[in-house]
Amino acid sequence: PYDVLVVGGGPAGTAAAIYAARKGIRTAIVAERFGGQVMDTVGIENFISVPYTEGPKLAASLEQHVKQYGVEVITEQRAAAISKDGYVNVDLASGATLKSRAVILATGARWRDLNVPGELEYRTKGVAYCPHCDGPFFKGKRVAVIGGGNSGIEAAIDLAGIVEHVTVVEFADTLRADEVLQKKARSMGNIDIIMSARTTEVIGDGSKVVGMDYEDRTTGEIKHLAVAGIFVQIGLVPNTEFLKGSEIALTRFGEIEIDTKGATSLPGVYAAGDATTVPFKQIIISMGAGATAALGAFDYLIRNPAP
Ligand code: FAD
Repeated sequence: PYDVLVVGGGPAGTAAAIYAARKGIRTAIVAERFGGQVMDTVGIENFISVPYTEGPKLAASLEQHVKQYGVEVITEQRAAAISKDGYVNVDLASGATLKSRAVILATGARWRDLNVPGELEYRTKGVAYCPHCDGPFFKGKRVAVIGGGNSGIEAAIDLAGIVEHVTVVEFADTLRADEVLQKKARSMGNIDIIMSARTTEVIGDGSKVVGMDYEDRTTGEIKHLAVAGIFVQIGLVPNTEFLKGSEIALTRFGEIEIDTKGATSLPGVYAAGDATTVPFKQIIISMGAGATAALGAFDYLIRNPAP
């Protein structure tokens, strides 16, 4: 068995593994895809002390750093269930079971897609999911935000300070965002809100986004918006489906509940990053959370003898 088994190989999981391995304990990472969401990212400008990098480059340095500490890295394996019998057991979809004294869950999250033509083709070429990350790339341009919930209206307010104009496109005939956010958005001179609008297509010129089409659900008419960027804000889904029915408490959104040391409701199991209740989902925040969870797990190990 391992001392610490990390599930997930994104920023949170790699930071956790490095912090654990530096304590001289037997550490492994099991991940479906090493690098996580970072692998889908082009420009990264907010990873402090690195003014600019690109996702695959950052993922390669994460892997190099982890391997320097002799962490065992098992990739292309998906965790399917977790249980505890003294050791924590992580069952893999392949049928194998990994045993560890402590486990750190860092399975991240994924943005909910629109599932319309053009979205996939123009992802990172105008179709974006993170205003904190990609907002500045659209300085002085017109953009759309799809989704009128809290994250959509927050994104619109955030972007309105950087870009020329923001159009919020909401499917329903009301906005779900908190009243205070709606009021703030309406008070800004460069935000329009369109309701009862079903996004039908992302339109590009072959290399980048130039606009989008939506159906006016009250009339059935197809309308066009000329925009350089489309921020999809229809939900971030934590990769925690495999924990449903386990002893690990999740919120109603499926986020893993953690305390200030990264501990979950199951003793010996810690969690970090986008899969958890952490309010902000960013690389640097996930790494800090991974370090916290590893130190939390080490604290647990020195207090609880091996079974
Ligand atoms: P993830 O990066 O999601 O990693 C999760 C890991 O868990 C992966 O290795 C995955 O394969 C694995 N996994 C999932 N389920 C299982 C399972 N059942 N079994 C085994 N392994 C599993 N943040 C910034 O700070 N700056 C940016 O510029 C930026 N740009 C972004 C651009 C895009 C397009 C996207 C999608 C995100 C961006 N983010 C950015 C957000 C940032 O990437 C995330 O906050 C960060 O990657 C979260 O790290 P994580 O380790 O918690 O999860």
